[in-house]
Amino acid sequence: MRELLRLPATEIAAAVAKGDLSAVEVTRVHLDRIAGVDGEVAAFLHVDAAGALAAARSIDEQRTKGEPLGPLAGVPIAIKDVLTTRGVPTTCGSRILDGWRPPYDATVVRKVRAAGLIPLGKANMDEFAMGSSTENSAFRPTRNPWDLTRIPGGSSGGSAAAVAAFEAPLALGTDTGGSIRQPAAVCGLVGAKPTYGGVSRYGLVAFSSSLDQAGPLTRTVLDAALLHEAIAGHDPLDSTSIDTPVPSLAAEVGRDVAGMRVGVVRELSGEGYQPEVEERFREAVALLGDLDAEIVEVSCPHFAYALPAYYLIAPSEASSNLARFDGMRYGLRAGDDGVASAEEVMSRTRAAGFGAEVKRRIMIGTYALSSGYYEAYYGQAQKVRTLIARDFDAAYQQVDVLVSPTTPTTAFPLGERVDDPMAMYLADLCTIPANLAGVPSMSLPCGLADGLPVGFQIMAPALADDRMYRVAGALEAELDARRGHPLLDEVPAL
Ligand code: GLN
Repeated sequence: MRELLRLPATEIAAAVAKGDLSAVEVTRVHLDRIAGVDGEVAAFLHVDAAGALAAARSIDEQRTKGEPLGPLAGVPIAIKDVLTTRGVPTTCGSRILDGWRPPYDATVVRKVRAAGLIPLGKANMDEFAMGSSTENSAFRPTRNPWDLTRIPGGSSGGSAAAVAAFEAPLALGTDTGGSIRQPAAVCGLVGAKPTYGGVSRYGLVAFSSSLDQAGPLTRTVLDAALLHEAIAGHDPLDSTSIDTPVPSLAAEVGRDVAGMRVGVVRELSGEGYQPEVEERFREAVALLGDLDAEIVEVSCPHFAYALPAYYLIAPSEASSNLARFDGMRYGLRAGDDGVASAEEVMSRTRAAGFGAEVKRRIMIGTYALSSGYYEAYYGQAQKVRTLIARDFDAAYQQVDVLVSPTTPTTAFPLGERVDDPMAMYLADLCTIPANLAGVPSMSLPCGLADGLPVGFQIMAPALADDRMYRVAGALEAELDARRGHPLLDEVPAL
């Protein structure tokens, strides 16, 4: 058996179910690992050791009583700090929510608890999920466990780094424009953004409500499928939740891909892409060809406008969603000297509580929605969004899934893009189209370039999340057979 910390979640759960490991022991080993390395990695904003051990004890009791345990019971998990946790601090990486302890669990948090998973604590993130490097966290940047001088991606960088550094076997992230898939790619993990509406957003503090989705970050495709199944399903508390049965995903892992039609998106390559990233991507596509998938090139001409459309739609929604942080109800209240008017207190609170990137987005969004400009900016962006959705529809007439690199480059050095928002935004060039169209998409590791992980992105039609797991499972098996599973077999920089 591999060392406990390196076991896939499925194997940990199997050992707990058999009684070879106790959930308490598994949890202690992970808490010790956090104590040992998180000073350097900074994946966590808050570790809830007492809560985790209590949850672990109750799993062990259930087992002793002979109660059935689910396929992930007894496995620790890191929770992105944008998801509310009852009684446990939830900051969204922002000073403005410093000290807030939500009175309720997000639906996905409630579901992971019900599945017997053990929340270890809250993972660091870019403030309100705005960013691609976790450097926009108001508290501290997270480092990439493969190379501590580099970014772990963002905005779910803490979630990704926790899994890559073996601090947690699993994590929950959220993805508005790539925030699960891009950190998964640069940390060598599997990360999936479900079909929009497939997973409840209740308790996911809203950034851009029409784009946000929570999903898994894991070391294996099967682990991702099981965690995805555990959090999916209809929720009457989220009006955009789709009322369909929970998809069967884990059953897809292990199927073959013979005869499946795989479309390589022509527009997601070329200028701006690191040559080694494209090489690893092409090699993985060739492997799918060897497995008798039919490979075709597909054109999605409007993907070129996805980034500008996203940077109008997401900030517009954010400017509205973030209006609620006014110092009156949650977290920080600044400048309330007993003399200042309510309006002054709101303004001082927002000036002191929000970081630079959040302010930039609020200003862009407010401008794009303002009277006289609305049609020219927000309205145009929505039209582009429709054209992108139509590109997907046309492509899926020809192919079963679409593929591309997940990110144009491997992890860049910390600090490199902090003063250049445009360069930062380009990290999500390949991931944003799926959010705009609401289709599912995932990233899996497809090898290394100069010692750093490269991500392979798979996109599927809405509600066909199972298809991407089928392709990912087959590709992972083939890559493992040829070169091993880097994250399980090699040691990152710790
Ligand atoms: N990096 C993108 C942004 O800054 C996407 C973030 C996300 O998916 N939450 O908006």
